[in-house]
Amino acid sequence: ATPTALMVGTGRGAQLGILIKGPEVLESTRKVDTIVLDKTGTVTTGRMTLLAVHPADGTDEAEVLRLAGALEHASEHPIAQAVAAGATERAGALPAPEDFANVPGLGVQGVVEGHAVLVGREQLLAEWAMELPAGLARAKAEAERAGRTAIAVAWDGEARAVLEVADAVKDTSAEAITRLRALGLTPVLLTGDNEAVARSVAREVGIDAEHVVAEVMPEDKVAVVKRLQGEGRSVAMVGDGVNDAAALAQADLGLAMGTGTDAAIEAGDLTLVRGDLRAAADAIRLARKTLGTIK
Ligand code: ADP
Ligand code: MG
Repeated sequence: ATPTALMVGTGRGAQLGILIKGPEVLESTRKVDTIVLDKTGTVTTGRMTLLAVHPADGTDEAEVLRLAGALEHASEHPIAQAVAAGATERAGALPAPEDFANVPGLGVQGVVEGHAVLVGREQLLAEWAMELPAGLARAKAEAERAGRTAIAVAWDGEARAVLEVADAVKDTSAEAITRLRALGLTPVLLTGDNEAVARSVAREVGIDAEHVVAEVMPEDKVAVVKRLQGEGRSVAMVGDGVNDAAALAQADLGLAMGTGTDAAIEAGDLTLVRGDLRAAADAIRLARKTLGTIK
């Protein structure tokens, strides 16, 4: 690129809310042919709401909210914040947990009011040899068919409830994906969330079902990027979470949501300041223009 093109390009980038780490980033931006998108907080707002509580037979809903809410209050995960806020709204003040641990990609576990409590994916319960009774399994399946995330709650060795949370797709995401496709990129949706929710978000924004990679553990997101690179693709990755940092660093081009975590921003080559996915398409178009590969 000529010095003038570089100045115009980076200046226009800043106006569009794109911060670039250095001019060397432009070359990889020009070459990418695949764009991997984290779901929660990137394609969706990441602001979840607690929509419904399904207690098991004989379980008190207020107790579900108090115990699950208390534990989630100690976590920063968007799902945890939704559960804690919904529980406070419906059940009042929450007790402080006596013990608490995050289980990355699965949920939280701890002790509340003397009960050993788990909140998270069904797999978290399975690790403790617990399963959902038929009524709860049905509630979970129905929630997922509706494109919602179902969270299991267990205490003292038994599954006690299913919580339904949902998160809205950003109103700019579908247009962003149309623009990325127009630039010749293949969009891939990558998430730790379940397959049904992932497919419903993909359908809403125009990502092919065959390009949905769901139920991926945080440490495995980087492996998905490596696999695509192994297939000869030049990969851009867009993400916002601590979970995404390694994948952002591995990608040929890492784009961090400016609304996301510091870990993601540090790992990325570019920051999309406003958290608007359309800026990803702007960045790629601008890089090609700056390097003189398009008029
Ligand atoms: P994503 O890749 O979509 O950003 P994560 O890897 O953070 O999602 O989490 C994957 C899944 O693990 C979530 O969809 C949820 O089912 C479960 N999970 C993670 N943390 C929590 C939590 N604090 N409470 C409840 N469920 C959780
Ligand atoms: Mg995320």
